[in-house]
Amino acid sequence: MFDADAVRQDFPILDQMVFDHPLVYLDNGASAQMPQVVIEAVSDYHLNHHSNVHRGAHTLSGRATDLYESARDTVQNFIHAAYREEIIFTSGTTHSLNLVSQVMADQVLQAGDEILISEMEHHANLIPWQQIAKKKGLTLKRIPLNENEELDLAEGLELINEKTKVVAIAHVSNVLGVVNPIKDLADAVHAVGGYLVVDGAQAVPHMPVDVQELDADFYAFSGHKMCGPTGIGILYGRKELLENFSPVFYGGEMINRVTFEESHWKEIPYKFEPGTPNISGAVGLAAGIDYLSKIGLEKIQAYEQALVDYVLPQLLNIEGLTVYGPKDPSRHTGVISFNIDPVHPHDVATVFDSRGVAIRAGHHCAEPLLDVLGTRSTARASFYFYNTFEEADRLIEVINKTKEFFTYG
Ligand code: PMP
Repeated sequence: MFDADAVRQDFPILDQMVFDHPLVYLDNGASAQMPQVVIEAVSDYHLNHHSNVHRGAHTLSGRATDLYESARDTVQNFIHAAYREEIIFTSGTTHSLNLVSQVMADQVLQAGDEILISEMEHHANLIPWQQIAKKKGLTLKRIPLNENEELDLAEGLELINEKTKVVAIAHVSNVLGVVNPIKDLADAVHAVGGYLVVDGAQAVPHMPVDVQELDADFYAFSGHKMCGPTGIGILYGRKELLENFSPVFYGGEMINRVTFEESHWKEIPYKFEPGTPNISGAVGLAAGIDYLSKIGLEKIQAYEQALVDYVLPQLLNIEGLTVYGPKDPSRHTGVISFNIDPVHPHDVATVFDSRGVAIRAGHHCAEPLLDVLGTRSTARASFYFYNTFEEADRLIEVINKTKEFFTYG
């Protein structure tokens, strides 16, 4: 069995007290922690190699370029992309989704076209499409939830028709913890000549992802949820699409030749990476990926599933607790949203913090989803592979204490 206690030694930040309690970090859905090797890789870059990439003829620039470009190879291998040119560095999922939606708005979408999202989208995969739809006279449709608070796939497939140009969907919901049937949606939207855009922010850190197997046209994710630093992310795009689409952001690093009248773009991926990139971020992301790969994503997924199998049924047994998303643990990832009736989630999170347990409270950037669920906010505990079964026990214990405190306190 996977040894979470051993793995924790790699994360010095986890070994601290908060309000005289050992820290239990259950806010991994927002940002995961970085192992020491990642911090050291970033620090080594800054201490020894820092320079600008691609344009310098000097040694440090050559080294920075090698590190940055080898990070691209690392990402390519990690998500099983066919070509390294398919990996575009961005500042994160939000940037990636804005980039692909702007390209679509500029070069694909026309009045009358339809974009299909789901009811469970993060604002980062909703607002860009909503705003484009408003500006261009498109229809934004949404796939509803079914009675298990999962995606209603049958309904989704019904909604796809010859007007559907884009299906944009989360691989894993950051509120419901549910995994969406990406391949089914890919097949359906490709059959009508549309594109599939996947928000993989909550998937890539937790399970093996193969963009070719999923048949995604675009796939976005962030470094900071997968043991990497903030400010770095990825947009994967299928090679022939990236080659055919033109950039929508402009500047240095992306051009072959510029005159006052004309500009000629570099080849992919560089035409989509204007300006100086986040080089240290790419170095840190690659170190994070190396770290995760050494452990193995299959092992990480199986261990997190074991935690969910252990904790979810216990949560469902607590009176007065509402748990969102599927109730069958085998259909639920380690992102678990809940409410303790009648306590406000912010009060829940504050009491948890006073006992050393870090969770998130709020709308989780998915306000329309919470409208569907009939609530304004929830508490959310989100696990990662360095969380232990004892920490799952602490979660249950603190929920019970919080209930007592607000009900009888
Ligand atoms: N999509 C989902 C599903 C997320 O969970 C998040 C992060 N909360 C994002 C998009 C946005 O990621 P970032 O803030 O790193 O751009």
